[in-house]
Amino acid sequence: MDKVSVLLTSRWNWKLLEEAKKWGIERPEECLSCGACVGACPAARTSSYNFRKVVRDVMLGNEEKVLSSREIWYCFYCFYCTSKCPSKVEIPYFIMRLRRMAIERGYGGDILRVVISTSINLMERGVSVLPSDYDRMSPASAEESMVRLRESLGLPPVMRVSEKAMEELKTIFKETGFEDEVERIRSGKWPFKGISEKY
Ligand code: SF4
Ligand code: SF4
Repeated sequence: MDKVSVLLTSRWNWKLLEEAKKWGIERPEECLSCGACVGACPAARTSSYNFRKVVRDVMLGNEEKVLSSREIWYCFYCFYCTSKCPSKVEIPYFIMRLRRMAIERGYGGDILRVVISTSINLMERGVSVLPSDYDRMSPASAEESMVRLRESLGLPPVMRVSEKAMEELKTIFKETGFEDEVERIRSGKWPFKGISEKY
């Protein structure tokens, strides 16, 4: 038995934790609630995000609270926290799995619809962020600035992914179901529920 569950094991409900761990994510139950991850996390500096609370609610089996909340959507996978955690909890992977579970239950659609453009770029151009994305108010001038910058560095004006690489990417998108999921989100056919702002 691990260090944390020795203290409070009678209160733990392992169902959600075990479900999340099916992806081979290690050690969330060894969280010491020390806060080192939260102190290091750039997302926590500008939001309410607190991984300690998330892992605790997972351990307590507060399934709907965790999966229906915006709290699991602040992390942007920089992995800084993993270098700070004394228990080597795989925080970003754990959050990734919780998001997947949330999506499977119909949550997170409003967030996915915002970020879907990066997936569409990836499918159509082989890169997730295009120069025009840097300034959505003025995409044409953002493109022009990037072309000028690339030319000043002696690079071709537009970055191109090779045809071979594009073919490989298309195969990956098709075989993994990524293409179908992007289409479902883009077309609005995925019946997403709203998520809770409060945690
Ligand atoms: S990976 Fe996520 S949780 Fe970890 S420090 Fe970065 S934003 Fe924060
Ligand atoms: S750094 Fe690790 S042990 Fe400390 S609160 Fe974060 S996940 Fe838990």
